[in-house]
Amino acid sequence: MPISVVTGGSGFLGSHLTDRLLKEGHEVVAIDNLLTGNERNLDHLRTEKRFRFLRHDVTKFIAVEGPVDFVFHFASPASPIDYLELPIQTLKVGSLGTHNALGLAKAKGATFLLASTSECYGDPLVHPQKEDYWGNVNPIGPRGVYDEAKRFAEAMTMAYYRFHKVNTKIVRIFNTYGPRMRLRDGRVVPAFVGQALRGEPMTVFGEGKQTRSFCFVSDLIDGIYRLSRADFHEPVNIGNPMELTIMEFAERIRRLTGSKSTIVKKPLPVDDPQQRQPDITRAKTILGWEPKVLLEDGLRETIQWFQANLDTPGRA
Ligand code: UDP
Repeated sequence: MPISVVTGGSGFLGSHLTDRLLKEGHEVVAIDNLLTGNERNLDHLRTEKRFRFLRHDVTKFIAVEGPVDFVFHFASPASPIDYLELPIQTLKVGSLGTHNALGLAKAKGATFLLASTSECYGDPLVHPQKEDYWGNVNPIGPRGVYDEAKRFAEAMTMAYYRFHKVNTKIVRIFNTYGPRMRLRDGRVVPAFVGQALRGEPMTVFGEGKQTRSFCFVSDLIDGIYRLSRADFHEPVNIGNPMELTIMEFAERIRRLTGSKSTIVKKPLPVDDPQQRQPDITRAKTILGWEPKVLLEDGLRETIQWFQANLDTPGRA
């Protein structure tokens, strides 16, 4: 039975990945300091014998007893609001945390998979984004703490691959949505869905002309699982190429929730990328992967989950 360590295991993606690994027969050790993760995301695993939780900050040495076959490094604040509020922690987990997670993989002879991000492309001047594009990132802007930490994490991962011969993989994750997102993490999906369900004004930043492409979480996790087993070491984009403007997205959520919310415009955050769409040719070729869940279907499931959790204490 393979043994996997998932850092950030209590987070949105970490917890879904944990579920998938358990389903595939793995034993899973989830590690999280609960800075932005939520224990409730793992509540359903309390009686699962193949699952262990360690409360630990991965910027400190990571001690795991016994053999480990895979290390999935998913720990990091991941919403623009979170990393603006936690700039040093974001930089530390992307740099020191990645170093420790790579060190664990090296010591155990484990495969390592880094959760990287489309933010590596910054405010991209090439569209759609292919993995060989080096990006347009402002290192000293407010998003720099996340973007540069993840770019450093990629560099560190490739150094462990080339120098220490660790079997590493890098996924560049594009905007993803689904159940277990934090209701108030400031990202556009929880923001719009929460506002629409409460009948509050929906806050579109700028003119809403900026674009994003949204991938449902089950599709994303499937791409990541496939990548963990593939013999490929350069970054792979995983995301849904279906691109929408944020204004179109707000209108779609309003329609699907049947909400009467108005739409109000708020200032555009500094360095907010104007357009984003993954080129997924590499994932298709190497992993035989492409997204399957239609936006409407994924949003319906997400809206239902938010509706059920809107007033749950500890879900905020
Ligand atoms: N956005 C918005 N209203 C909100 C939250 C976000 O218009 O209440 C916009 C934001 O400016 C960005 C897009 O939605 O252009 C996606 O933002 P998110 O915070 O989800 O993540 P990003 O893709 O910027 O990392």
